[in-house]
Amino acid sequence: MTDKRPAPVITELTEAFWRGGAVGELRVQRCQNCRWWLHPPLPMCPRCRSRELEPEAVAGTGTVYSFTVNRYQWTPALVPPYTVAEVELDEQPGLRLLTSIVGCAEVAIGMPVRVKFEPADGTPGTWVPVFAP
Ligand code: ZN
Repeated sequence: MTDKRPAPVITELTEAFWRGGAVGELRVQRCQNCRWWLHPPLPMCPRCRSRELEPEAVAGTGTVYSFTVNRYQWTPALVPPYTVAEVELDEQPGLRLLTSIVGCAEVAIGMPVRVKFEPADGTPGTWVPVFAP
């Protein structure tokens, strides 16, 4: 694995998510009306239809919901093998991120993990959330 990850596309809805790593925060969109967490971010809460959505910091802990090990080099920036995983955050059942698991030779479903941040290549101030045991 390289120490710089391909830069994400930043939009108004995703900016807080990609920039939170600068201050060590994993920021997830949350409905200010019904307090439901949403990821990926949406313009409207699917639960109560409120448009009052704001990013809030989560604890950064969760469990591996599903994973696969990629062994093909799709891009020069990501050297295989690496683990692509869905991590379910502790804040809410079903609140899951597509991410990578790092610093771990044997990943398992249900394994507790914690967020870490890796810098995005060529985009200062942008951090990619990954998870480690
Ligand atoms: Zn809501």
